[in-house]
Amino acid sequence: MSRSVLVTGGNRGIGLAIATAFREAGDKVAVTYNSSPPPDGFLAVKCDITDQEQVDAAFDTIQNENGPVEVLVANAGITRDTLLLRMSDDDWSAVIDTNLTGSFRVAKRAAKGMLRLRKGRIVFISSVVGMLGSPGQVNYAASKSGLIGMARSMARELGSRGITANVVAPGFVETDMTAVLPEETQKQYLSQIPLGRFGLTEEIANAVRWLSSEEAGYITGAVIPVDGGIGMGN
Ligand code: NDP
Repeated sequence: MSRSVLVTGGNRGIGLAIATAFREAGDKVAVTYNSSPPPDGFLAVKCDITDQEQVDAAFDTIQNENGPVEVLVANAGITRDTLLLRMSDDDWSAVIDTNLTGSFRVAKRAAKGMLRLRKGRIVFISSVVGMLGSPGQVNYAASKSGLIGMARSMARELGSRGITANVVAPGFVETDMTAVLPEETQKQYLSQIPLGRFGLTEEIANAVRWLSSEEAGYITGAVIPVDGGIGMGN
């Protein structure tokens, strides 16, 4: 059955692969973007997830066009990497506000509709860094581990209404976000990945689509690593 799916930050990178996977499975897919729109084939809605009014307006548009959101993938995220003593309040706040609070804003709004439907799937895109930590990413790691506590609390609150909340924790995936990392850092990551290669955006998308399927109906509050083994045991 065709469901109303929303992928935040679905215009490029991992988000676009996720949006494409749902579309190929026959769902009606809305994609929010902040700067540049996605390719054709999606309901494209401009929405800065740091702005509650824009989030509310986006949900109104999606509900009118595709029906209430039944599957939410909170994917939009940013980095502002720098070492702790150089990290400004602004570096900290921007990352927390986008990655953690932005995900809270969209999940809260989506849950409202899902409670009425008495079903729903929420998937947060975290990162292996949220569990391992990473030098230069104090803000990012905090935002990504915050998503885990948030998802698990939602899983407990919403479970009795048939709503699941899970987390996918990717490892290193080649996108615009990682392209800016120095070659030396990339090499270092690569040497620690048991599978010996970086991940593909489609590999993250497959896990998200499965977690949102009927088949995964008894999974909630889970953190699914898709990381080539780099985060094993965490
Ligand atoms: P990209 O940098 O390629 O894409 C980031 C996405 O987030 C874009 O769609 C961007 O929209 C959107 N976005 C950023 N800020 C906002 C905002 N304020 N409001 C709305 N949308 C916003 O990143 P990736 O595809 O690599 O990452 C996607 C997710 O996966 C992120 O949460 C990231 O932390 C996570 N992740 C990525 C890994 C990797 O190795 N690449 C590893 C682990 C996790 P726009 O283009 O319009 O600015």
